[in-house]
Amino acid sequence: MPKEFDLIAQYFTRPAPEKMVGVGDDCAIFSLRSGHDLATSTDLLLEGRHFFSDVDPYLLGRKALAVNLSDLAAAGASARACLLSLALPSVDEAWLAGFSRGFLEMADAHHCPLIGGDTTRSLDHITIGVTVMGEVPRGKALLRSDAQEGDDIWVTGYLGAADLALRYLSGSLALDSERLQASRAALENPAPPVSFATHLPGMAHAAIDISDGLAQDLGHILKASQCGAELLLADLPMHDALRGLPANLQNEAMLAGGDVFQLCFTAASTQRDALQALAEQHDIVVHRIGRIVNGSGLRVVDQNGQPLFLAHQGFDHFA
Ligand SMILES: [Mg+2]
Repeated sequence: MPKEFDLIAQYFTRPAPEKMVGVGDDCAIFSLRSGHDLATSTDLLLEGRHFFSDVDPYLLGRKALAVNLSDLAAAGASARACLLSLALPSVDEAWLAGFSRGFLEMADAHHCPLIGGDTTRSLDHITIGVTVMGEVPRGKALLRSDAQEGDDIWVTGYLGAADLALRYLSGSLALDSERLQASRAALENPAPPVSFATHLPGMAHAAIDISDGLAQDLGHILKASQCGAELLLADLPMHDALRGLPANLQNEAMLAGGDVFQLCFTAASTQRDALQALAEQHDIVVHRIGRIVNGSGLRVVDQNGQPLFLAHQGFDHFA
């Protein structure tokens, strides 16, 4: 390993929290609290595929961890620790300083210390691999398969903004500077409802984080839970950046737009007040967008009760 890669390691090496063995031994080691299950998830981010080469490295560092925390949130798990692997074509100290600052800031904010990882040289392009580990009360993790007929369907936050920014950055949509600023913030600095989600086990039934688009991700819940869903178009929480745009663009961005990193979850209607109160406590917004029904598949209806035809169900990585 060339010396410069020792330097990379230095950007990320921090003393391990008490009772944890972190960077500097063969394995990182920590214990789970008794009565808890380990929840773990991993994500790969490829330059040119999941992020643009010119993205602010500080924001990229934040997002690399945020998208993983979003998966923990979908299980109702609280973060315990994370691992980071980086493959870099060269050592760019300004990039490393920005990326590590963003990553470690996000880690501190969510009590998810970086306790290990690896760095290597890539032939070209940056690859970022993050693994998160969290814990959830034993047997209580939120799964995609637990939606029940009659459940309300909820989403946290607002929909559609990240998709606008992606369309702009890939050159398929022109945006004024105000819309661009708002939508780009949603794309590049997602804020999954991490602490809110840790209270959902016992209150919610099924959950998923919205990474590939609401229609597609809710579709995973429907398939796993063997049920259908009806959504009311007018009840979808539209991000302000979409106001005044053509209706078909708004609908597609809200229903099929990816990179949202908010939660979609189902819960019994008896939980409505408790869920609203919990959201307020955690300073986030939640909206009820429809219900789980007998049958299969997703039906979205407009204010006249007419079903909406969705041309794009969401982002398919291998399309
Ligand atoms: Mg996910």
